[in-house]
Amino acid sequence: MASLFKIDIKKLKGVGPKTALYLNRLGVYTIGDIIRFFPRTYEDWTSVNTLQEAYGQKDKCVKLKILSQSQVLRTRSGKKIYKLEATDGRNIAQIIFYNSKYAAQSLVKDCEYILRGNVEFKFGKYEISSPKIKKSNKKEAFYPVYCQTAGINSKKISSLVKNALELLPESIGETLPAKVINENNLCSFDFALRNIHFPKNRQCLEMARRRIIFEEIFIYQLGIKLIKENSKIKTDVKIKNEYSKEFSEFLPFKLTGAQNNAISECIRDIKGSEFSMNRLLQGDVGSGKTAVAASVAYTVAKNGYQVAIMAPTELLAVQHFKTFKNFFEKTNLKIGLMCGSLKSKERKILNENIENGNIDIVIGTHCLISDTTAFKNLGLIVTDEQHRFGVNQRAKLINKGVAPHVLVMSATPIPRSLALILYGDLDISVLNEILPGRQKIDTFSVDSSKRHRVWNFIKNIVNEGGQCYIVCASIDENENDIIDVNGYYEKMIENGFNKDEVKVLHGKMKPQEKDLIMSDFINGKIKILVSTTVIEVGIDVPKARIIVIENAERFGISQLHQLRGRVGRSSLKSYCVLISDSKSNDSKRRFSAMVSSGDGFYLSEEDLKLRGPGDFFGVNQHGVPNVNIVTSYKDIGIIKSAQEAADISKLDFSDPSFKFINKKIDSIFKRGSDSKSQMII
Ligand code: ADP
Ligand code: MG
Repeated sequence: MASLFKIDIKKLKGVGPKTALYLNRLGVYTIGDIIRFFPRTYEDWTSVNTLQEAYGQKDKCVKLKILSQSQVLRTRSGKKIYKLEATDGRNIAQIIFYNSKYAAQSLVKDCEYILRGNVEFKFGKYEISSPKIKKSNKKEAFYPVYCQTAGINSKKISSLVKNALELLPESIGETLPAKVINENNLCSFDFALRNIHFPKNRQCLEMARRRIIFEEIFIYQLGIKLIKENSKIKTDVKIKNEYSKEFSEFLPFKLTGAQNNAISECIRDIKGSEFSMNRLLQGDVGSGKTAVAASVAYTVAKNGYQVAIMAPTELLAVQHFKTFKNFFEKTNLKIGLMCGSLKSKERKILNENIENGNIDIVIGTHCLISDTTAFKNLGLIVTDEQHRFGVNQRAKLINKGVAPHVLVMSATPIPRSLALILYGDLDISVLNEILPGRQKIDTFSVDSSKRHRVWNFIKNIVNEGGQCYIVCASIDENENDIIDVNGYYEKMIENGFNKDEVKVLHGKMKPQEKDLIMSDFINGKIKILVSTTVIEVGIDVPKARIIVIENAERFGISQLHQLRGRVGRSSLKSYCVLISDSKSNDSKRRFSAMVSSGDGFYLSEEDLKLRGPGDFFGVNQHGVPNVNIVTSYKDIGIIKSAQEAADISKLDFSDPSFKFINKKIDSIFKRGSDSKSQMII
């Protein structure tokens, strides 16, 4: 099998230079790749329905006998329509083809066919338009449907996959330890590869899917556990005393139980330990992560070590700097801000102060860990999930002679069942308590006919001194009924909003321009921000009390919840309005989840039910389980058993399958691509 991954796809029967190019676009470069290019879905021709059963459902097969020859009609615009009648023995259906004489004439009177399509009911009759056709005496089967792209369709891909499968040896080697296969009732790798493409029946397909999903998760989980095991780094940072209690005296509020727990977990990691901490602090937007980080930072600084706090953008760094300044006002700790706008002389002085230890806590963007900044004795790095502190970065620091403790903060709640997989290399602390004094953000789901009422509501809030976010799904006018920021802005001005108070913000603006608008919004000069989703997650604008999300159907639950988190940052009542004309059940479920709950962890579970686990893997940056198969909530069981099976203490690493497994782990986590990182893993 491995060797097929080295054979260029051009060598495959049926692939010319052009086809090779199209396949490349789909990420297929070798023969092995096309075997691993799994179908997006399947056309099931094995279960045949009556008209009544198929009615109202998409893409169903109906066995019909043709009652008449096709008739040609013309529409008003002159297009030809071919119509004929057929029966399932109980009811009659009209079969309609548009401009497709060939298909219509292929149906012969009195013969039986299986037609596949959407059965509708019009003018008192069943109707199927442009169905796919198979002779009813043909063997019914499952047909794979592949992702296609211009120039190459699913059918062609299917025939190429067939050619590729023929190149497989009679029976290919196993990729998982025999014990794992037996204990988990998995089919063989050989069976899985063949049946994921051309399953004999649904049962075979399910067995193949199970094996493939299991394998991906198992290997990913094992990789991440090995990383955790091997990234236990000895540290010289000696934290002798805890100062959490002292720190809490500086705060204008009482820490919640969840915050105190998280702080204790960090202290347990760092106090007296010979290994450095590698912990994730997970909590919804506004759950109070900064205070936790600040408390740990205080303890580390009081023990004589420096702390680096890294933010994803300069704006957030400035915000953190102000927060830390306030928290530490009554202490004698020196806090520095390293940002791009510093003049070179100021930067030089700051760097000197960091190097000689005059600065205790330095806040900045990720440039902090650049080669120009040298710390005297760095003890703790706090960073965000977006720039998860990778193994390579740690290696870089260790090379500089430091092994600081690392705390990663994440504002994306993810379902528990997936957290262990995606964050398995970290210890996790969770902030799941609502801060006292916070009100629920009242959330409404309305259609666009209510837009003017929503605008009046916004005017009232602005008159009361509040501010507003409006989120649109697009920047420029486009044909798909998607509301764009620029058009929206024009309409607001036409409807009496004050030009000076409303501004547009989107991702195609220059960074300086964006920063200027954002800081004018933060300082209250701008009252209403009409933007795409570019607004930073962590931005704290307490006066922003309403967020309106247009074309809300375009966003998943987690994204809607993240957006909603931009408001509700003070004790004043805040609102979120979802505007959408979508009638789909899926959107309705998302909106009603949003309306009924403000709990990010609960919503992430709902999201998982709707979207399946695949989308969650997509958001993680630290290597991704590349399942390559469309997954759904139903697959969580497989994922859990794979996760449990990846137990280092119970595996026999001398099993021959580990040759494959190790290689795959290397490629997922880029292990070995850098000798420094190898040193750690
Ligand atoms: P996030 O988790 O999104 O980073 P922040 O740390 O910015 O949240 O906290 C949000 C707000 O809540 C801040 O203004 C912070 O000062 C405040 N806050 C944090 N902890 C508490 C608490 N225990 N009680 C009351 N307010 C708190
Ligand atoms: Mg924050």
